Amino acid sequence: MSIDDMNGWRKTHYTRDVTPELDGQEVILGGWVRNYRDLGGLKFITLQDKYGERQITLKKGVVSDEVFEKGKVGYQYCLMIKGKVKKFEKAPGGIEIIPTEIKILNKTPDKLPIDMTGETISELDLRLNNRALDLRSLRNQAIFEIRGQVLMSIRNFLLKQDFTEITTPKIIGSATEGGTELFPIMYFDKEAFLIQSAQLYKEQLGGVYERVFEISPAFRAEKSHTKRHLCEIFTLDVEMSFADMNDVQKTLEELVHNVIEDVRENRMPALKVLNMEDKTIVPKLPFPRYKYDEIIELVDKKFGITIEWGEDISTEAYRKLGEELTGYYYITHWPMEIKPFYILPSNNPKYSESFDLQMGWLELVSGGTRVHNKQQLINAIEAKGLNSASFESHISVFGFGMPPHAGFGLGIARWITFICGLDDIREAVMYPRTPDRLTP
Ligand code: ATP
Ligand code: MN
Repeated sequence: MSIDDMNGWRKTHYTRDVTPELDGQEVILGGWVRNYRDLGGLKFITLQDKYGERQITLKKGVVSDEVFEKGKVGYQYCLMIKGKVKKFEKAPGGIEIIPTEIKILNKTPDKLPIDMTGETISELDLRLNNRALDLRSLRNQAIFEIRGQVLMSIRNFLLKQDFTEITTPKIIGSATEGGTELFPIMYFDKEAFLIQSAQLYKEQLGGVYERVFEISPAFRAEKSHTKRHLCEIFTLDVEMSFADMNDVQKTLEELVHNVIEDVRENRMPALKVLNMEDKTIVPKLPFPRYKYDEIIELVDKKFGITIEWGEDISTEAYRKLGEELTGYYYITHWPMEIKPFYILPSNNPKYSESFDLQMGWLELVSGGTRVHNKQQLINAIEAKGLNSASFESHISVFGFGMPPHAGFGLGIARWITFICGLDDIREAVMYPRTPDRLTP
């Protein structure tokens, strides 16, 4: 069997646009074979495209012998099909297509590396090795449709509220936040680094455009082998001037509320594919707010897990907390010693004007009020053991009328993991980067 050319053929419709109202009309569809059945004198092909699938029915005697022969296809063959739309209650979507011509544009081996029929889910690493194929699955179509909606809804929400979308550099000359988790790169004959967050640039631009956001990659050189850490992340960064952390928390919870509302309104079929229609529900506002001190007390009393004051909350403690607090909630006023220099200390300087937004056991957001006084910023940098001279260009901006400001960073893949009910964050990214995965 040879391979056909498209020649003059172009798709007239996507599968979702072929509705029972088109009964009797000729259409040209293009896509891939999700499934096929050969019952001797009768063959069925399930043709999928980016929006869904339709049944192609080949009955001996009804279609030409040539078309009937062409109907010998394999999983994920790339086809174009010209045919007549026929209303048929029993077919998926109430329609079948009776083909008059089939073009086989590309073939596949007899055995694909992963199951594409939807009957079983292949092991995740195997799927990631064959990601472009894997992404055609119904499950992945649903996940990334929801991701697209989330990104669109975030933009719609923020743009309506006077935020300006910014873009900031991802290559930097020195270790800006003082973290050790930077990827070094060669920048011609000098060493440079991939950025770990948009923090400093978004603060600077908040002093220009007042309310700013950026949706962009950041890079974390952490050798974490968990189901919630990636080396290349994609974050929503927000910064608001003439505001403190309370204002930011209010904006953030409204954003979460609106985005989930949009997902439910526009992506219910995708939520259903993932069995999340009853779980991903619009959260009530305002979200519960707990202080760090209250959380470590609760974790101690309820679960007998001791967290030394000033330490991060352990994964074990988060897991237990997540069983108790299943939705969205804030943990505020973290010890200053575990917060970065740009976070404003509270009146009692042991504490900080900071918050995390949690979803059950998982951290979605970190944020807080920032230091905006120049001398205080210099002191804070030095107090963390960093050299303020290497921050000179950033610090100078604070001498030009920097307003009080606050903001947050939200991990997009963490959110998709939660909304879609995924077990592993790698499922929420088209091509995940982890310590042991750099391809595809
Ligand atoms: P964690 O403590 O969970 O490792 P973090 O506190 O180091 O995260 P932040 O620097 O606060 O992370 O980054 C802001 C947000 O970006 C986080 O709340 C999280 O949603 C996301 N994020 C951070 N690091 C990662 C990562 N390695 N993989 C995936 N998402 C991440
Ligand atoms: Mn954090």
